[in-house]
Amino acid sequence: MKEWGYSILKGRQIDFENNDFSISRFVELHEPSFSWCIGCGSCTATCSAAKFTDFNPRKVNLLIQRGEIKGIEDEIAKCMLCGKCQLVCPRGINTRNVVQNIKRAISKSYAL
Ligand code: SF4
Ligand code: SF4
Repeated sequence: MKEWGYSILKGRQIDFENNDFSISRFVELHEPSFSWCIGCGSCTATCSAAKFTDFNPRKVNLLIQRGEIKGIEDEIAKCMLCGKCQLVCPRGINTRNVVQNIKRAISKSYAL
């Protein structure tokens, strides 16, 4: 087949039948502000860990809300819990507590 140097993008539909929303449910239960995120990216722009790694807290939040949690444990481990993201979040989300609850959800094997 001819290689054109680009490919068709993977579909981004949310698969409600097969995606795993257990972390999202757990975090929303213990830190309801998690659901206020508008994906602005201010947290990523100011994130201490993002300066040294490829960590992206906006992306992590989005993937968890979409139920796409593969590899999330390794990603969230990069957070230093410094709290800078919380200072700049325009929605007033307690982002530090969101991270802590994501870690709690993972350590409980996603149980509610
Ligand atoms: S700064 Fe707040 S609203 Fe913006 S992406 Fe981060 S968590 Fe979401
Ligand atoms: S608490 Fe975590 S996500 Fe927020 S700025 Fe610090 S390292 Fe980044």
